[in-house]
Amino acid sequence: MNLKLQQYIDGNWVDAKSAHTRNIINPFNQEIIAVVPEGDESDTKAAIAAARESFDNGEWAFTPATERGAVVRKIAELIERDKEELAYLESLDTGKTVEESRGDMDDIAGVFRYYGELADKDGGELIDSPVPNSNSKVVHEPVGVCAQITPWNYPLLQASWKLAPALATGNTLIMKPSEITPLTTIKVFELMEEAGVPAGVANLVLGAGGTVGAELSDNTDVDLISFTGGIATGKKIMQAASVNVKKLALELGGKNPNIIFADADFDIAVDQAMNGVFFHAGQICSAGTRLIVEESIHDEFVNALVERVKNFKLGSGFDEDTQMGPLISAEHLEKVEKYVEAGVKEGATLAVGGKRPEDPELQKGFFYLPTIFTDCTTDMTVVQEEGFGPVITVEKFSTEKEAVKLANDSIYGLAGGVFTSDSAKAERCAAKMRMGTVWINEFNLYFPHAPWGGFKQSGIGRELGRLGMEEYTETKHIFQNYKPESMNWF
Ligand code: NAD
Repeated sequence: MNLKLQQYIDGNWVDAKSAHTRNIINPFNQEIIAVVPEGDESDTKAAIAAARESFDNGEWAFTPATERGAVVRKIAELIERDKEELAYLESLDTGKTVEESRGDMDDIAGVFRYYGELADKDGGELIDSPVPNSNSKVVHEPVGVCAQITPWNYPLLQASWKLAPALATGNTLIMKPSEITPLTTIKVFELMEEAGVPAGVANLVLGAGGTVGAELSDNTDVDLISFTGGIATGKKIMQAASVNVKKLALELGGKNPNIIFADADFDIAVDQAMNGVFFHAGQICSAGTRLIVEESIHDEFVNALVERVKNFKLGSGFDEDTQMGPLISAEHLEKVEKYVEAGVKEGATLAVGGKRPEDPELQKGFFYLPTIFTDCTTDMTVVQEEGFGPVITVEKFSTEKEAVKLANDSIYGLAGGVFTSDSAKAERCAAKMRMGTVWINEFNLYFPHAPWGGFKQSGIGRELGRLGMEEYTETKHIFQNYKPESMNWF
């Protein structure tokens, strides 16, 4: 592996101050694929100090936005140059198919290019002044030192949604990838150095959430924290961030409904219902794990899904014919098993799956069979909680109103889908669905210029699009009086 396997602090590649390390495990066969430094609070403090010093000296913030944009676009080019290596590392680390990882790398390069191009498009705005002979303008400036914490399911994709807008707008940052999937993030820090990001601007600390992540949340030299991960961690970070009223962006979980009307194109709806869930073995925040199917086609729809799903080819992400890889870890596999057990106990019917595969070749990996539950009701754990595995629950509805009500019956509000050939009906549903994204006759599509984020407990703020850039800016009003006069008031 041609990687530095170190942290990157103030322009230097360094081991952990404690010299502790962590083994990175291949979820397909449990082999050790890399040994990386295990940073802690002291490494984090060093990285924060570097980012603070770098921001306060103003070098990056006052670099012309056109130049910053060029550096960010250069990162996109380098990602494209090293796409195969990055895709290999991502699949090795996460178990997802290399085809999926290649798609991720295209998306990631697209995100850097988009924000690189946007960097110099915001020249501020003159607003009308109520005072003669004066000038009133609104400008956007970087927030300052940004902490960025990412999960293991889309390691580099989630990192890119944070790194690109933060750099384009002139912030300095400390990135903490998930401790179990750091490889592609390390690689992209090598590429950012090559692209010309100055020392101190972008810092990388490797280590656990309870140490590195907690220090980033607590430290008063951090101005903003952008977090993608689970709801429980998000709540902890939100509390800790209050210490100095950090700006906060949270991208949390989802239990995303997918409404299938009887008038939808049946085959496309079946296909998309599977695409919506089974990529990366269901470990997707926006997975459409909650199918809400019109009663008149329910049985036929479930049968079609079961037929397709039971023939899925599970295996190594590097085998051409693999459709689904393993789950990320032994701990996560156990969590998914317990989740399914809870569904069975609560009375849901297992239509397919519900266990680990028996294939001897899969026993070393953290595999779980694609699983479909029918006879589900909204009060069940499997319908309400995020499982983050290849598990679909199916509920029935008979009226449009009921479908929307079921879809909205959740603490989450990340994304949802509607399949129908009646576009007026689709629009009516989309208007009432309380989610940050609603797809009509599509599922799980996102692109750099469309904002992404959650209603309700799925998060705060938006990534991607112009809004994803605005998260990294403060707004300032500057008023200048060219002919000041005394008020003679006091
Ligand atoms: P997680 O919350 O366990 O961990 C996410 C990150 O937070 C990791 O880097 C972890 O080390 C760190 N962390 C853990 N404890 C911390 C603490 N006390 N303080 C600071 N940081 C801490 O989540 P995960 O299991 O890695 O990822 C899965 C979750 O991420 C799912 O809930 C999924 O829905 C969510 N997710 C959301 C989106 C989105 O766009 N909304 C995208 C991807 C994943």
